[in-house]
Amino acid sequence: MSAHIFDPPAVVTVPVEGGGAFPVRRILCVGRNYAAHRREMGGDDRDPPFFFAKPADAIVPPGKDVAYPPATHNLHHEIELVVALKTGGKDIPVAKALDLVFGYAVGVDMTRRDLQAAARDKGQPWDSSKGFDESAPISTLKPWTGPAPQGRIAIRVNGETKQDAVVADMIWNTAEIIAEASKLWTLAPGDLIYTGTPEGVGPLVRGDAVEGEIEGVGKLAFKVV
Ligand code: MN
Repeated sequence: MSAHIFDPPAVVTVPVEGGGAFPVRRILCVGRNYAAHRREMGGDDRDPPFFFAKPADAIVPPGKDVAYPPATHNLHHEIELVVALKTGGKDIPVAKALDLVFGYAVGVDMTRRDLQAAARDKGQPWDSSKGFDESAPISTLKPWTGPAPQGRIAIRVNGETKQDAVVADMIWNTAEIIAEASKLWTLAPGDLIYTGTPEGVGPLVRGDAVEGEIEGVGKLAFKVV
């Protein structure tokens, strides 16, 4: 076996409430999973949600500021429930899907909205608008068994509430998201899924203080620098 020609990158981890670190394998994200957000993005009410991805090293662990990214003049916040998997598989039935869950976190799907709009107009992929450096701030992970979170999901910017909804309004619920993803990919321990954002997405600028919260799951706070 040949030696690595340089040191492999460190494993990205998310701290776990009560101790320990969750090693991140990859990040899947759900697009347009709340009807009111789908409408604010100009989507058709009949179109089902869909998946895109971010690289694992897009994670910003709790307690860290988020650098305003290059190449955008319209950085947006999207508050989302994040589900963390402890086991994997493919073609998982909805009734078994929550057995894969390690826990939940509060995440923000940071979006370069101007690049996303340009990509959409040209029929190009979303990677540069969604999968950029520091595009996935996340809270501490909360271990969880039983029914998935359903409660209030909200985000404040400089103390002003911008998004305020309930997770129960998701078009695909958590079990359905896992089942749908497992039709497309073999899921594995360490996979994170950002489950989509409710209505009220909007811009962030340098200096903004962002506070996200999901009932029963936790809180996330960071500054854009
Ligand atoms: Mn999103």
